[in-house]
This record gives sequence, structure tokens and C-alpha cells, in this order.
Amino acid sequence: MKCEGCGIKIQSIDENKSGYLPQNVLDEKIINNEKILCQRCFKLKNYNQLMPLDINSDFYPQLDKVLKDFKTVIWVIDIIDFDGTFRKDLAEKLKNKNVILIVNKIDLLPKSSALSEIKEWLFKKVRKYLNIKKDNIRMVSSKKGFGLQRVRKLITMTEKEKVLIMGVTNVGKSSLLNKLINKDITVSSYPGTTLNVIKTKLDQSNIEIYDTPGIEPNDRFCDILDIHSQVKMIPNKEITIQTLKADPDKYVFLSGLAYFKILEHGDYDLRPIFSIFMSQNIGIHITKEEKVEDILKNRKVAFPPYNEEFDYKKLKFNEYELNIKEGYDLSLPGLGWVSVKRGPLNIKLFIPEKMSYIIRKSMI
Ligand code: GDP
Repeated sequence: MKCEGCGIKIQSIDENKSGYLPQNVLDEKIINNEKILCQRCFKLKNYNQLMPLDINSDFYPQLDKVLKDFKTVIWVIDIIDFDGTFRKDLAEKLKNKNVILIVNKIDLLPKSSALSEIKEWLFKKVRKYLNIKKDNIRMVSSKKGFGLQRVRKLITMTEKEKVLIMGVTNVGKSSLLNKLINKDITVSSYPGTTLNVIKTKLDQSNIEIYDTPGIEPNDRFCDILDIHSQVKMIPNKEITIQTLKADPDKYVFLSGLAYFKILEHGDYDLRPIFSIFMSQNIGIHITKEEKVEDILKNRKVAFPPYNEEFDYKKLKFNEYELNIKEGYDLSLPGLGWVSVKRGPLNIKLFIPEKMSYIIRKSMI
């Protein structure tokens, strides 16, 4: 069977190889006698019109115009990258809306995670910026289909029969939409703007869902990489936790994208303990001071990026001296986080300019 978009052979085995289409989607398409497109073509078909929009472009004025017409907004964020995807500037725009906050990718959390505690953590965080009921924060996995029943219910309970869906790139917006709907979609420009939206209907209802283009922030660690590396950087299985005891003067590399030096601290016996929560694709490498220069020069330690031509020299690192207390995380948007189990942890952090770090109360 061939993709009707690009002609490649359809396969359901390896999502990283071309021609991929999940088996269940393929089965559904065959039963319903629908056009068969590989996942890539499916995305292109949508994104041809809905190319991601740079957050620096004139997206905001256009979004403002579109938002005027909606009371309910489904905002999709990624639990593994809360700080990179829950954007305060977007929250500001949604102050007076009925927001259904979809916290996606919960299947990637370590199995031991207490979801109810994470939900409390989320609620405390987001209610500073959004006027939201706890029940409107939904922890889901679009990939596995967890939690979507309640999302459907909340959508059908909305006052007006149309909702807007939004979120930054790679949070799983299209995966969610695909799971929620089962109908053909139309792409149109929203009246009064040049912002294209995909209009579709929620299954067995008259509720219209308007999908906005993904927003490309450009201050997450993944945003400095090529698209190929970005895709590989997205965790596709449960994130790994590596717990380390802090040895002063050691350097910890988080792939080639960030690194930190562990600084001296008081009591040697009570050395800080910290855990690194990151995608299995981020190489964690501990080294001595003598090796740092070589690593920085040759960059052999870690991937991503996966692109041989990636020019490391263009990365200029800023450094910050930080004191992270026990029970706090150092969050690196687009990369993961470091959680301090026994602290404080004193470090000198090196991250590329324009990238940010956040110190927050531990999520897990
Ligand atoms: P969009 O850019 O927001 O539309 O995001 P996509 O729907 O294209 O998803 C981006 C990546 O995240 C893809 O590799 C998806 O397979 C993956 N993804 C989406 N939802 C989930 C989820 O619930 N769990 C996991 N593990 N991966 C997901």
C-alpha cells in the first residue's frame, strides 16, 4: 500500500522511518475508505497551510483578533516541558477565557509519579496566571488515549458551540485533535486576520474546533536545533531519571547543549544528591575540569544535535552561579530538569545565550 501523498510504501513498524502510519489509524482509514496519507504527508497537508508561527512575528495581534470570537480555549502544554510550553505571554491573553488546559504526554512521566500531587503542583502554578477551575486541568496522553473522555465531556459542556485549540509546537496538538475528531478538515483564514485555522467538528456533535498553527517560541533548547534533531529530542518513552551525588569540581554535560560545574559546599559527608529527568536521547556525561575544553572543542560527548553540520561555534554560553535548595528543580525549557534531593546544590551553569533556566519547586 502506498501513501497517496508522496507515493512511499506505508509501514506501521517504525515511526522514525518514512512511510509511517500507526496501525490503528491505517485500519480505520481502510474501513472508512478514506485517503491514505503517511504521517509526514498528513502533517504537511495541514502544515502547508498551518506552518508554525514564530512567536516574534505578528502572531499576537492576529491571535487577539481570533480570540475575541471564542469563550472557550483548549490550551495544550507538555508535562515534560512545562516551563517551555506554559507560556506566561499566552496565559495573559487567556485571562478572561474558559480555558481547558490539556497537560499532555503524561505517559512519559516516570511510573512512580503521583499524578494527584503533580496536579496540585500544576494547579498552584497555573492559577497565578489563569482563572481556571481545577477540573479544567486535564492530564492526558494523546498518544495512549488516556484522559480524553473527560476532555470530550468538558468540550461538550461549553456554552458556545465552538472552541479554539492552541499551543506551541510539539506539545501534541495534532495528536490530540486526531484523537478527538474523526472527520474531514477544512483550512481557512479566520475572518479579519491572515491567521489560518483548521476548522473541524467534534465527533457526533455540532461543536466546531478551530486549530491554530503551532507557535514556535525560540527560547527552548530544542529551538536552536535543526528540525531533524528536534524530532529526535522529543522523548518517545518514559523519561529517564539519573540520580547523582555531587562531587565538587566535576562537570556535568547535558548533551552538548548545557553543562554545569559543581561548586564546593560545606559538609563533605552530606554531599548534595540530585536527579536528572531527561529524554533518553539526551546524553549525560560527567567529567573532570581538564577534559572540559576538549569536550567543548570537539563536542564528541553527546547528542543531540544529530546533524553533523551543526555549528557549535555559533553557540555562545552564558554562565550563572546558582544555589538550588533541597526540594527545588532547575528547569531547562526544552531539555528537562534537575531535581535536588539533598541540598543545597551550588553550581555554575553554562547555557547558550537566549536560553533560559527556571528554578521551581520540585514537580515530582
Ligand atoms: P504538535 O506540533 O503540537 O501538533 O505536536 P504533534 O502532535 O505533532 O506531536 C509532537 C510529537 O509528540 C510527536 O512525536 C508525537 O508522537 C508526540 N506526542 C504527542 N502526544 C503525545 C503523548 O501523549 N505522549 C507521547 N509520548 N508522545 C506524544
